[in-house]
Amino acid sequence: MDFKELANKYKTPLYVYDLDYMATQYQELKEAFKGRKSILAYAVKANSNLSVIKHFAQLGAGADCVSIGEVRRALLAGVAPYKIIFSGVGKSDDEIREAIESDILYINVESEAELGRVELIAKELDKPSRISIRVNPNIDPKTHPYISTGLHDNKFGVDIESAKRMYIRSKNSSYLEPVGIHFHIGSQLTELDPIREAAEIVADMIRSLEVLDIELKFFDIGGGLGIKYDDETTIKPYDYAQAILGCLTALDITIICEPGRFLTANAGYFLTKVLYEKKNGEKRFVVVDGAMNDLLRPSLYKAYHKIDVITDSESEKSKADIVGPVCESGDFLAKDCELPILEHNDLVVVNSAGAYGFTMASNYNTRGRVAEVAIKDGEDRLIRKRETFEDIIANEKEFLD
Ligand SMILES: *Cc1c(COP(=O)(O)O)cnc(C)c1O
Repeated sequence: MDFKELANKYKTPLYVYDLDYMATQYQELKEAFKGRKSILAYAVKANSNLSVIKHFAQLGAGADCVSIGEVRRALLAGVAPYKIIFSGVGKSDDEIREAIESDILYINVESEAELGRVELIAKELDKPSRISIRVNPNIDPKTHPYISTGLHDNKFGVDIESAKRMYIRSKNSSYLEPVGIHFHIGSQLTELDPIREAAEIVADMIRSLEVLDIELKFFDIGGGLGIKYDDETTIKPYDYAQAILGCLTALDITIICEPGRFLTANAGYFLTKVLYEKKNGEKRFVVVDGAMNDLLRPSLYKAYHKIDVITDSESEKSKADIVGPVCESGDFLAKDCELPILEHNDLVVVNSAGAYGFTMASNYNTRGRVAEVAIKDGEDRLIRKRETFEDIIANEKEFLD
């Protein structure tokens, strides 16, 4: 990929996505589950650009959505309604209503109270709602605490006993149709044992429901498959699938997997230009035109992103922090990076930026959100325009008096 040419053509800061890499990741994971019916429901929150969702839809993917906005994106991008899942710990009545009316595959219910709302709204609409219940198997995924979700300490899902009650209630309701069971123990998973343990618990639950004459059709294993940001050892899709399949003997059930990061993270690059260097005492900073409002992960999670630089500089390398223009000490893209002395307009390439990059961007400091470019079959194409000042103030201007 010619980053320099892309930066000149589209300006910086800029997100660039390799759609062919995304397809390769999709195919590898899909292939791993062969021999079973499966749907890969792309976790839209990782990268919700319409062209990215459409790319996955064309490969046959479904969509895992966590707001009605994401459901609308998925539908608009051509994802079949029967492959769309609506998850999330707090759904409004309006969102539930629209999800039922849209005839999506199911609503992933995360509490007893929510099940009550779904039932009530389905009754108002006189349209039964397909549901799945998110169980919290209380398994430590051994990942970053901010991205672990399968422990009782976390707000997600319900414990096994409550889930059982909720299934029985659903079975006895004319407006609830329990079709699936769901768990998602965390993100950036790099160990197989916690996944296997969780799958085992949830598979046992399916068996105990069968005894109660509740036959589920979908075993939703969530997402979370980890990727290499640095030198992590990751789980191979094949081993991941085998671990899951090993828990499902004698169960005739379709697997749903909700990968986000695995499909998009390493397909994405954040390009930013060097403005200048500065030193505070001995501390060296490279100031770039991209910032935490464009790529929040380093600030939010102290996440590591590998940095490459494109420069003619042949100076000796020394440690520097790469920081943006935003007025926060937490505004950095990388810390203690070994870099040569960089010049104005040298290019910094932040790797693994295709997931939870643009989707977490904001207008903080009245900075417009950046442009996004897709590369497919060697061709680059704009898939989101850079926001202008006029875009940013559009919803306020009319109230100036
Ligand atoms: C965030 C999320 C995913 C995707 O997680 P990744 O780590 O990006 O694979 C899948 N399912 C649910 C319910 C989620 O909340």
